[in-house]
Amino acid sequence: MYEVSVDETFAAAHNLREYKGKCEDLHGHNYKVRIVLAGEELDSTGLLYDFVHLKQVIRGVIQSLDHKYLNELAPFDKLNPSAENIARHIYNETARQLRQTPNGAGVASITVWETETTAATYRP
Ligand SMILES: [Zn+2]
Repeated sequence: MYEVSVDETFAAAHNLREYKGKCEDLHGHNYKVRIVLAGEELDSTGLLYDFVHLKQVIRGVIQSLDHKYLNELAPFDKLNPSAENIARHIYNETARQLRQTPNGAGVASITVWETETTAATYRP
């Protein structure tokens, strides 16, 4: 099994509903996101998936979140914008866009860091 990953960052504001603590008030994070693709087969060039294309996809998805108040955006107008739910949302969007991968590679995980030391990962 091969894995390739790309990291990207975005800045956004959120607050957690029904949460008792600092995160119930409006605040922002410089989020870091890691997308990991996994697959069994390499192409004739020796690549699992082209980093350039992978970056384009993850950047496109993240662009819709960057410098936004997440609680106002679907699905976070109803779903709490926790790091876990953000990871799941980014997984759904990237997996949809990467449906036609050469060699059958797929999104293995999305990790979202809220701070340098706290992260949540979604794996399908
Ligand atoms: Zn927060």
